[in-house]
Order: sequence, then C-alpha cells, then structure tokens
Amino acid sequence: DRPAVTVLGLGAMGTALAEALLAEGHPVTVWNRTATRADPLVERGAARAATPGEAIAASSLVLTCLLDYASVHEVLDEHGDALRGRVLANLTNGTPAQARRFAEWAACHGADYLDGGIMAVPPQIATPEAFLLYSGSRAAFDTHRGTLAVLGESHYLGEAAGLAALHDIALLSGMYGMFAGIVHAFAVVRAEGTPAAEFAPLLTRWLSAMGGWAHAAAGQIDSGDYTTGVVSNLGMQAAGFANLIRTAEEQGLSPELLAPFGSLLRRRAEAGHAREDITGVIELLRKGNPA
Ligand code: NDP
Repeated sequence: DRPAVTVLGLGAMGTALAEALLAEGHPVTVWNRTATRADPLVERGAARAATPGEAIAASSLVLTCLLDYASVHEVLDEHGDALRGRVLANLTNGTPAQARRFAEWAACHGADYLDGGIMAVPPQIATPEAFLLYSGSRAAFDTHRGTLAVLGESHYLGEAAGLAALHDIALLSGMYGMFAGIVHAFAVVRAEGTPAAEFAPLLTRWLSAMGGWAHAAAGQIDSGDYTTGVVSNLGMQAAGFANLIRTAEEQGLSPELLAPFGSLLRRRAEAGHAREDITGVIELLRKGNPA
C-alpha cells in the first residue's frame, strides 16, 4: 500500500502534486482555502478535508504548497499541534532565512521538517524534466524518499534547513537573468520588424551554446583568480556591451533590463581589471566593495 499524503494548497502547483500522487495510487487528502479548487481532485479520488487540521490528521506526510510563507503561517499557525510526530514538507517558495525560521517553528510543534524547492512548472511534475531540492531532516527524507520521487527527481542537499531555498533562489536568479535577456532580445528584433517566432530558434541555439559558461566560470569564481584561461577579456566585453545599450537607445527601447550589468562591467574594467575575465564582476556584488 502506498503511504497516505496530505496536500495543503491547491493552486496550479499543489494541484499538480496531488494529481501525480493520486495517479501513483497514493491515498491523498487535500485542503484549499477556496474549497471549490479541490473539486476536480475529489472527482479523481482525493479526500476533501474541511479544515487544515483535519487534512493533517489524515497522513503522516503533509505537503504544503502555498503562495508564500505568510500564507503558510495563515494556514498552519492554528494547527501546529496536529503536526506532532508527522513529516511536514514545505514546498512553498521562500528565502533561506524563512526556511530556517520555519524549521524552528516546526520543531517547536514536534514535526519532522523538510524544506523543498520545486524546479519545474506544474505540467512537468512527475515527468523526467522535474527535479526537486530538499533540505532538513534526513530521517524524514529517507522515510518518504519513494513518495517524493513520484513528483520528480529528488536532490537531498543536507540537514541545514536553508539549503534547498538557497539553491532554489540561486537557480531562479540565473533563470530570471536569462528571461530578462530573452525579453530584451525579442524587443530588439521586433523593433526592426523581425517577429519573435522567427528569431526564437537562433536565440535558443545561442543560449544553449552559452549555457556551458557556468562550468567555465565556476573555477575562476571559486579560486578568486579571474586571470586564468581568459578567452574573452572584460575590456572587450565592456566595449561590446556598450553597443547593446546604444542599439536600444537608437531603437527607442528602454535599456533598463541590461543597463545595471553594463555599468558593473564598465566599473570593473575601469578599476584596472580589463585584461581579466568577466567573472571578476562578482567582486562588485559584495556590498561596500568599490571595485
Ligand atoms: P497559485 O497562485 O496557483 O496558488 C496559490 C495557492 O496559495 C492557492 O492554493 C491559494 O489559495 C493559496 N493561498 C494564497 N494566499 C493564501 C492565504 N493567505 N491563505 C491560504 N491560502 C493561500 O500558485 P502556485 O500553485 O503556482 O505556486 C505555489 C507555490 O509553488 C509558490 O510558492 C510557488 O513559488 C511555487 N512554485 C510554483 C511554480 C509554478 O510554475 N507554478 C514552480 C515552482 C514553484 P486560494 O486558491 O484560496 O487562492
């Protein structure tokens, strides 16, 4: 028999999680603030709980997937005692500090806490594309490893509760940098009549070719030596970047998605690092560091 699972929060993601568990034959109990959102899941065999407390009592593994930590507290604060002796896996997006504080809250109520980050969009859940990050109680992860694997590939990062959120936030930071670039790139081609759909294949090809840069940059960033194996020096890149800003201005586009990175490149180059690699810009991100 598959272990029972409770899912609190039936937005796009919570619904996808509950559907995946139902499809694998897990008994699933659901609760959502707007109760009607549970209807399709109930039709597929989920049990509807009238309150979060009732939902928690139904399973030894409780998943929360709500908008943010404020909503998690709104849902769980009155039901902390119901969590005693259960595993609480919170898959709500938040900061590492929020995860650490919430782990303490869970411990105070006698729950075994796992923090999770979902690296997938809802249609990818339970497909090979989905992966999820976990941190916190190793015993909780080991006990429910098989159930969690239904949702996607699991990466357990360690006992420190903030680790999943740390990696999640870092991955999303990389993703949003890329999204910003994609949006700007489409604006540039459309400004001169090329439809985005026509340009998308080239853009995709270029971004995948450049994706490997993370590995190349990592060595320099960990060593703090930005001078090894430089194939594209910062001075050249800062000069080239100025042309991105110039083009936007010529086209009457706002350069605001690109401008902050451009000014960091220029500052670092002007501070005497023009022959180094672009990775040295990381030094400017530490607050209070002028160059
Ligand atoms: P939705 O906006 O679809 O759903 C939000 C959920 O939070 C709903 O169940 C909503 O209830 C509930 N909620 C919001 N405020 C409160 C509150 N004050 N009290 C009780 N319940 C509340 O978001 P998603 O399902 O897409 O996202 C859920 C989590 O999953 C987020 O933390 C998100 O960052 C994360 N995630 C989402 C991904 C995605 O692509 N969708 C990808 C990876 C992570 P109600 O129905 O009553 O409004």
